[in-house]
Amino acid sequence: MQNPYQNAMAQLDKVSQIKNFGEDFIEKLRHPDRDIRISIPVKMDDGSLKIFEGYRVEYNNALGPYKGGIRYHQDTEINEVKALAFWMAIKCAVANIPMGGGKGGVTVDPKKLSKSELEKLSRGWVQKLSDILGPKKDVPAPDVNTTPEIMAWMADEFEKITGDKTRATFTGKPIEAGGSEGRGPATGLGGFYVFDTLRGQLGLPEKCKVVIQGFGNVGANAAKIFSQNGHTIIAVSDSKSAIFNENGLDLKKIEEHKKKTGALKDFSGTKNITNAELLELSCDLLVPAAFENVITDANAEKIKAKVILELANGPITPKADEILFKKNISVIPDVLANSGGVTVSYFEWDQNLKNEHWSENKVFDKLKLMMEDAAKKILEKAKENKTYLRMGAFILALERIKEKML
Ligand code: GLU
Repeated sequence: MQNPYQNAMAQLDKVSQIKNFGEDFIEKLRHPDRDIRISIPVKMDDGSLKIFEGYRVEYNNALGPYKGGIRYHQDTEINEVKALAFWMAIKCAVANIPMGGGKGGVTVDPKKLSKSELEKLSRGWVQKLSDILGPKKDVPAPDVNTTPEIMAWMADEFEKITGDKTRATFTGKPIEAGGSEGRGPATGLGGFYVFDTLRGQLGLPEKCKVVIQGFGNVGANAAKIFSQNGHTIIAVSDSKSAIFNENGLDLKKIEEHKKKTGALKDFSGTKNITNAELLELSCDLLVPAAFENVITDANAEKIKAKVILELANGPITPKADEILFKKNISVIPDVLANSGGVTVSYFEWDQNLKNEHWSENKVFDKLKLMMEDAAKKILEKAKENKTYLRMGAFILALERIKEKML
């Protein structure tokens, strides 16, 4: 299988077949402005010294400071971070926020670290990169396995090193450390607003049967929001297992069960299924909210959802995209569907710089307007160019980036 960066570049190739952006511009977008690898030494609790490999990729800053999360995962490597940074550049342009694209990471299984080791690792990441970070330079945020608490450690470390007191260098912070109201559910909520704007156009019923892969911050919040809005969640999964009940799941009880047992499986009244089976369930809406490359040419033929809402980054490979398109399955692409997270990150940065604190209602109202606007514009672009939504989103984003780069 191709790595995520190869997938991202295949998407770029595809869009340039649909619309001519000029070879030089596309060639420029094939390379990040810089990709940085760092070694982070951490004194472990048992007294030994361990070196972790970390990354920051600054992809493109035509629209504003590099912006994007930091991922902690045992499989994280440079090609994944480069792809994620490229997608951030496209995503910020789609959301129409004055930010560029960046991404960071550390190759680590954070579940194997104690809290103090995790804090040392996070502060170590900032110590190695403080020169290139800053409110007007590069603004990181959470991603897979990085939490508001980690952002608070990082923001504190950055302030200690540089003396910058704006707190605008990291977003996704806890409220008491300068975070924004509503940043927690922002990705799931933004995804819901996008879905709700496009639902009728995509031929979905008013009440949908929804399947969600992933039960982290994004997946669990999405499950809650979709169910509060009258849709029925029929299956959810975490990294270990998946559960299914055609008549709907009681999410509150499932969360309690997961807290108690550490897993979703064996919840009474539901059937244990595999993650692969979950993706192939019959439903109105399938929401991949975990990792890249889960729908590929190996399983795309078997997908039975009517519409897919990509809350994860890069869950569908370019080959699978083509297969789904032929099967008439619409995909609401990641760069639109999950852009609510970075949009509220932008609100947080803006509040920090202006020394303001907005109410949750204000944040959600602004988010709703921006998501609706982005969704409508992308649908229009796709129709205008007789292509699917991902390409509509790429066309809109590349037009905006190119205009600034010129
Ligand atoms: N990690 C999130 C994403 O992939 C959020 C990035 C941010 O808030 O800067 O969009």
